[in-house]
Amino acid sequence: MSFTRYKLAFQFVVTFFALSLVPALYFYSEYKKIDIQAVNAVEQSNRNKLEYASAELQTTLTKINLSLRSLSTNGLFNQALLKPSESNINALKDFWLLVTQTQGYYSQLRLLDVNGQELIRINSSERVSEIVDDDRLQNKGERDYFAYAQTLKPNQLGTFGIDLEHEFGEVVYPLTPSYRVIIPLQLQGELQGYFIANLDLKRIYKRLAYKRNLANLPSVVNTDGYYLMSNHGQATFGHLIERNSEYNLSNQHPLLWEKINQASNGTVRDGNRWFSFQKSFMASKDRKNNIIFIIESDHKSVSPIVNDALTDLVVQASFLTIIILLITFGFVTWNYNHQKNSMASKIARAAMNGMSAMVITDHNNRIVEVNEEFTRVSGYELKDVVGKQPSLFSSGKHNQEFYMAMWKELEEKGIWEGEVVNKRRDGTKITEILRIQTVRDQNNIIQFYVASFVDITHRKELEDRLRELSERDPLTSLWNRRKFDNEMTSHSIRVKRYPDSETTSLALLDIDHFKRINDKYGHDEGDNVIINVANILTDHLRESDLVARIGGEEFALIMPHTSIGEAEIVVNRLRTAIHLETNMGITVSAGVTEICSRSSDSYKRADIALYESKSLGRNQVSVLSTHESESIA
Ligand code: GH3
Ligand code: MG
Ligand code: MG
Repeated sequence: MSFTRYKLAFQFVVTFFALSLVPALYFYSEYKKIDIQAVNAVEQSNRNKLEYASAELQTTLTKINLSLRSLSTNGLFNQALLKPSESNINALKDFWLLVTQTQGYYSQLRLLDVNGQELIRINSSERVSEIVDDDRLQNKGERDYFAYAQTLKPNQLGTFGIDLEHEFGEVVYPLTPSYRVIIPLQLQGELQGYFIANLDLKRIYKRLAYKRNLANLPSVVNTDGYYLMSNHGQATFGHLIERNSEYNLSNQHPLLWEKINQASNGTVRDGNRWFSFQKSFMASKDRKNNIIFIIESDHKSVSPIVNDALTDLVVQASFLTIIILLITFGFVTWNYNHQKNSMASKIARAAMNGMSAMVITDHNNRIVEVNEEFTRVSGYELKDVVGKQPSLFSSGKHNQEFYMAMWKELEEKGIWEGEVVNKRRDGTKITEILRIQTVRDQNNIIQFYVASFVDITHRKELEDRLRELSERDPLTSLWNRRKFDNEMTSHSIRVKRYPDSETTSLALLDIDHFKRINDKYGHDEGDNVIINVANILTDHLRESDLVARIGGEEFALIMPHTSIGEAEIVVNRLRTAIHLETNMGITVSAGVTEICSRSSDSYKRADIALYESKSLGRNQVSVLSTHESESIA
C-alpha cells in the first residue's frame, strides 16, 4: 500500500469516527433508555404481585393474631385453665379441633404449663387434624421458643421466628416451616401457662399468589439470604439443615443481593434474568422476622419489549452508519480530488510561468490564455488577442501546405514540433521553436491546444551571419566558390523541375595578364586591382544577380531571368566599365552561357567561351549556348 493510500485510509477512519461520535452518544443513551424501559416494564408487571403478596401476608397475620387473641380469651379456654376437669379440657380440645379444621392456618395449637409441659396439643395438616394423645405430649421446657415465651409479659402476643417443626428433638419430614405465636396466659393475677399456635407457613404462603395463580407466587427469603418459601424448587430451609447451603441468594445472585441490601424494593437484571423484590416483615418489627419477597420475571415477557426496541435501534444505527459511511466516502474523495486538482493547478501555474511563451486556444482555436513570457516576447497582451486565432501572428513566411501538414499531425499524434517564423506586435519577425499539444476530454475530443515556444530569432541571425561568412570571400566580400557552387546546383535543379522557366545566364570573367600586374606593381597592388574589379562588378549588376570570386582573379556572375543575349550585353558593359574605371589599363575576358539542368555542363561551356575570348586576343566576351555546344559536339 502506498503512502497516499495509507493517508486516505487514515483520513477515512478519522472522518468516520468524528462523524459517528455524536450519533454514537445518542445511540448509547437510547440503549440505556431501553434498559430503563425494560426495568420499568418488569417492575410494573411485578409490583402488583409483590404488593399483593406483602399486603396479603400482613392481612392474614393480623387476622390470625386477632383470631388467636380471641381464642386466648375464649370462655372455654378460661374454664379449662381455671378448672382443668376432663370435661372442660375435652371441650377445649374439641373446640380447637374444630378451629384447626375450619381455619387452615394452624399446624399446631397447644397449651403448655408454666414449666413447658404440653397439656393440650392439636396437630393439623392440610388433610387431617388430630388431638394428640396424652402419652405423646412432651415437655418443651428446653426449646428456644419456650425461653422466648418466658420473656413475654402476661397476655402479650409474641411471635417467635420461623423454625422447622421438631418432634422429640428431630426435624419433621417433609420439612414443615412454622411460625409460632405465643401468648402467656394470666388469669386472676397468676400465670397459668402458655398458649402457642404454630402457623403452617406453607398454607399461608399459597394464599399470597396474586389472582390465586401459583405462577405469581414470589419466593420468600430471610435477611441472611436463605429461602423460607419458594415456588421455583430452591431448597427451602437449607440453612437450618446444612449451614453452608448453596441455596443462598447472596451466592446465587450477588448483584440482586447487593441491591436488596440498599433498597426496600426494586428491579435488577442479572444476566438474562430479571428480578423484582420487596422487603416485608412478619407481624412484628422484630429484625428476626424481616423477610424479602422476590419474583423472577418471566423472561419471555421482558424479551419482546427489549428486543423490539433493540431491533429498532439497530436498524436506525445501521441506516445512519451507511449514511455516515457514504458521507465519509464522499468527503474523502472530494478532498482527494480537491488536493489533486489544486496540486495540478499549481503545477499548471508554474508551467505557465516558465521560460517558454505559451498560448492556449480552445477547441475552435480561439485564444483563451497567454502567459507573461508570451507578452514579453511578442508584445501582445491577453486582452489584445483573446478570442482571436493564432493566424494573427503569421508572418507569411509559411505557405498553406505547411499549416495543413501541421494540423494533420496534431490531429493524428496530438503533438507538433517545428521551427516557425511569426511576427511580433511591432511587425518584426520572430523565429520560434514551437511545440503544440492537444488536450482531449474523456471522449477523446480535443478541447484545448497548448502552444509553447522559445524565441530563437537571435540564434537564427547568428547562424545566418556565420553561414554568410563561410560563403563570402574575405578579400572582396563577394560570394565565394562554395556559395557559387550551391547556387549553381539550385538553379540547375530548378531548370530540371521547370524546363520552361525563364533563362538564367552564367558568365565567367578572368583578368587579362594579371601576372604582369603582380610582377610590375607587387602583390598588394594586385589585390587592390582585384578589389576594384569586384566593386565595379557589384555596382553595375542588379541585386538579384549573384557575383562571386571563384578563383585568384576569376569571377562568376549568375543572372536570373536573363537570356544569353542580354547577358552578353551586360558583361560587355562590365568589361568596358572595368577598362575605363581602372587606371592601369586593366582588361577582362569573359565567357557567357545559360544554366542548364547539369551545373558542371554549364560551367564547362562558360569556361570554353572564356578560353575562346582569351585565344581571340583577350578583352572580349564570347558566348557558347547549349545549342552551339551540341552542334560542336
Ligand atoms: P591570362 O589570364 O591573360 O592568360 O594571363 P594571366 O597572367 O592572368 O594568367 P593566369 O590567369 O593564369 O594567372 C593568374 C595569376 O594571378 C597567377 C597569380 O600569381 C595571380 N594571382 C592569383 N591570385 C592572386 C591574388 O589573390 N592576388 C594577387 N595579387 N595575385 C594573384
Ligand atoms: Mg586566371
Ligand atoms: Mg588572368
